[in-house]
Amino acid sequence: MTEQSFKHRVFSGIQPSGNLTLGNYLGAVKRFVEMQDSGIETIYCVVDLHAITVWQDPEKLRHATRELAAAYIACGLDPTRSILFNQSQVSAHAELGWLFNCVARLGWMNRMTQFKDKAGKNAEKASLGLYAYPSLMAADILTYQATHVPVGEDQKQHVELARDIAGKFNHDYGTEYFPLPEPIIEGAATRVMSLRDGTKKMSKSDPSDLSRINLTDDADTIAKKIKKAKTDPEPLPDSVDGLDGRPEAKNLVSIYAALSGKSKADVIAEFAGQQFGAFKPALADLAVAELSPITARMSDLMADPAEIDRILGDGADRAAALAEPVLAGAKDVMGFVRSR
Ligand code: ATP
Ligand code: MG
Repeated sequence: MTEQSFKHRVFSGIQPSGNLTLGNYLGAVKRFVEMQDSGIETIYCVVDLHAITVWQDPEKLRHATRELAAAYIACGLDPTRSILFNQSQVSAHAELGWLFNCVARLGWMNRMTQFKDKAGKNAEKASLGLYAYPSLMAADILTYQATHVPVGEDQKQHVELARDIAGKFNHDYGTEYFPLPEPIIEGAATRVMSLRDGTKKMSKSDPSDLSRINLTDDADTIAKKIKKAKTDPEPLPDSVDGLDGRPEAKNLVSIYAALSGKSKADVIAEFAGQQFGAFKPALADLAVAELSPITARMSDLMADPAEIDRILGDGADRAAALAEPVLAGAKDVMGFVRSR
């Protein structure tokens, strides 16, 4: 079997670790929807096992899991055309994750910037799960033998690690069992930055709610957050290069470009020389126009949590039907006795 023989299959996931943000939407979910519509098999997961790498209140986790599923559907993912499910209902993820813990090397894990960012100065107090996170992520992807992984820029390193794990597994066991998955990082906003600090990624787990726009924010909240977004005193430049060294300005222009489907150059051409006092309300209008139908649809879906649970359960059955044979095959390759 050669690498080319793997059927194209898309897998990606988002953690139910808080409200979905504009960064998640532009960097991930919008891309998920495009890939669903491109005719490739698509599998999208609510990665709840990843969320618990940092403490989650159980009730909030349940709510965030359903809300993320609602957001997927509200953004255009169709549970009949994609497989939508939550990770903890398909045990193959955790099981292959353990097998990969024994393939991945400590040296590789030590290079992962997300662990350093999230563990911060107090790494001794971080959970072992937070450290092993990338190995579970490799299992998420590879238990479907997925070939393409749409993600934001921040997850590139983890998808590359999944390639390394697949490559080492194949090499160690003299097989071509796993494909080497490719990150797909596309769009004008692959790394949306915090509204409070243009050098920090926008994150749903950031303690400051003002740092992000949530898909559940109403129009007034969105307008207020954009108005308060940190900027510098200069007007917008007359070329894209003029955004260099101005991270906050660059971020707002990138968000505008991604929301409007225009290039950054077109946005600059439209707003060159204008103050943020003029640009920010235009950006807020654009964000509200794009997000408010999604917010409304999410709240409709959240009115019927039993239906969301049904969709997740059905997706989990279909996901498990794909994942279990791949896990079983990996066990055979590794020499486990399987007699039932
Ligand atoms: P957390 O703070 O809990 O890590 P998060 O906002 O980083 O939450 P994740 O669940 O870790 O979200 O990531 C889900 C997807 O969203 C990934 O593909 C990730 O690359 C993408 N993503 C996250 N933040 C951004 C961002 N600021 N800009 C673009 N894409 C993003
Ligand atoms: Mg993250």
